[in-house]
Amino acid sequence: MDQDKPQVWRCPNGHALGRVQRSSSRIRQLVLFRHADGPEDDVIGTLEGTSEIVCSVCGYSRTWVPGEEAIRDLLIKMGRSVALVEDEVKKERWPDGPAAIEV
Ligand SMILES: [Zn+2]
Repeated sequence: MDQDKPQVWRCPNGHALGRVQRSSSRIRQLVLFRHADGPEDDVIGTLEGTSEIVCSVCGYSRTWVPGEEAIRDLLIKMGRSVALVEDEVKKERWPDGPAAIEV
């Protein structure tokens, strides 16, 4: 089991926005990087609540929901791929596809 291994949290285009960690009380937290894909030790802060995070590289946003990673872990254990889960997240956020919101 490697549940406590740090997981990188990425925008829909794959830029690293932060990393997921667990607090001492086992709450999932997002350690937010100052710059997407930037140095992992240059962080803005730690988020516990739901937040909309905008990628500083591509401008797409993603909503941090505590527990989302846990749900994904569970789906993976149930035999579903991460890619499938990601696709469902994208469909939910952009029913017409990511290109539809480009200006
Ligand atoms: Zn991005």
